[in-house]
Amino acid sequence: MSAPWEVRNYIDGEWRRPSGEAGGEVLNPATGEVLARAPAGAAADVAAAVEAAARAFPQWRAAPPGERIQHLFRLKQLLEEHFEEIARLITLENGKTLAESRGELRRAVENVEVACGIPTLMQGYNLEEAARGIDEILIRQPLGVAAAITPFNFPAMIPFWFLPYAVACGNTFVLKPSERVPLSIARCFELLEQTGLPRGVVSLVHGGKPAVDALLDHPAVAAISFVGSSPVARYVYARAAANGKRVQCQGGAKNHAVILPDADRESTTQIISDSAFGCAGQRCLAVSVAVTIGEARGWFRDAIAGVAGSLKVGCGLDDGVQMGPVITPAGKARIEGLIGQGIGEGAAPVLDGRGVKIEGYPRGAFVGPTVLDGVPSSSSLTETEIFGPVLSLICAAHLDEAMALIARNSYGNAASIFTTDGAAARKFRHQVPTGNVGVNIGVAAPLAYFPFSGWKGSFFGVLHAQGRDAVEFYTDKKVVIERWPREWSRRF
Ligand code: NAD
Repeated sequence: MSAPWEVRNYIDGEWRRPSGEAGGEVLNPATGEVLARAPAGAAADVAAAVEAAARAFPQWRAAPPGERIQHLFRLKQLLEEHFEEIARLITLENGKTLAESRGELRRAVENVEVACGIPTLMQGYNLEEAARGIDEILIRQPLGVAAAITPFNFPAMIPFWFLPYAVACGNTFVLKPSERVPLSIARCFELLEQTGLPRGVVSLVHGGKPAVDALLDHPAVAAISFVGSSPVARYVYARAAANGKRVQCQGGAKNHAVILPDADRESTTQIISDSAFGCAGQRCLAVSVAVTIGEARGWFRDAIAGVAGSLKVGCGLDDGVQMGPVITPAGKARIEGLIGQGIGEGAAPVLDGRGVKIEGYPRGAFVGPTVLDGVPSSSSLTETEIFGPVLSLICAAHLDEAMALIARNSYGNAASIFTTDGAAARKFRHQVPTGNVGVNIGVAAPLAYFPFSGWKGSFFGVLHAQGRDAVEFYTDKKVVIERWPREWSRRF
């Protein structure tokens, strides 16, 4: 395979050329090479996918769950067989290192594995003799057509927070991936096609806002899942809900790590560096603010500068590279502008990654690891999701002050504490107002068996992605109350 790729939709069991206008270029972030041109997204294509999904639904929901998951077992096998190929595609279009792409894909596969447990997971419950002669039964049924809209930073993993659970529960499914990374998920859909799923059960429609709006407004779409930035999450939540759909929207983040003076210095520094600079900081669970308590300030500042400063930045496919580029030149310019703003407002650049040059990659969107010390609390950066390899350092007098600071932030995706004091860790776990919490963990990413649990401005909805929440989200509960009087029985 080589560039330029043709970006096609997968609708009703067929690969089709998108209709409507061309959209933006899909770039290799390391080289600037144009990999493909994504479509702008057309309402007609969305309608075709949704209508195919609606036609496929009655037969698909009638298939026993144990039969439905056989397709997922095949998918798991195919993803394993094509693991390296897909990981390379992720790196090619997203820029992250090959090791990070492999990690991402492993998480995608885990979700397929968990959804294979649907015959157990979607069971209901019942009570015999709920009242005299009356039994009560709760059954779970699929909703119909479910759709997901996903971001650029995990091109192959995030769609799998939704797709396996939706189809295993008996729904049909339409995916609208990020227009910036359409390639690796298209390859996954080619593998899905090989699993023998009936036509229309899964569809892939590329595009940007026009495709999203068409999904939000289509009357046959019963449920919408969204992952992306908070302003768009809020918009999607409001519009889908106004149209009467079930909706879950995961948004952006500003994650804090609190470092107590007793933290293990070496592991804390390494873990926070991995969190802040892994995937070039483009992770919704990346630590972006390190809050040191008391004397942790001095040792942490020097240690993180040393570790971050030694990271090898370059093309994610090259050996030994520890940090790849950011997604686009526009993203690089935005991040560098925010670094400049922080410095202008009084932060000291312990490490300044602006203007970094990588030999052999003159057109790459590289930003070096950046550490800003003392971003003032008045700065708008304290509320801005930079989404790049930038770590801010601030200090607090004690744990309560650090937690109050986290509570004031409008986001609530994740927070971490680094300490060897169990009671302090327990207090943090109990009080900190974020949906994911790390204790001596830098990327508090829930495994597929647990919900991906953002709070506050990082999540709009009730039920999260993954785990039991996914089963709840993709099923409706039906309660049946039955009376079968003995005297009606003629034969027994
Ligand atoms: P984004 O919000 O720009 O795009 C996400 C999706 O929304 C894409 O499919 C895009 O086509 C669509 N979209 C963009 N603008 C739109 C608009 N105006 N109207 C309708 N649809 C629109 O996000 P991104 O830049 O692709 O991804 C990065 C963001 O995602 C960050 O904020 C990050 O924190 C967040 N994220 C959150 C989680 C989480 O679990 N909370 C996980 C990964 C990423």
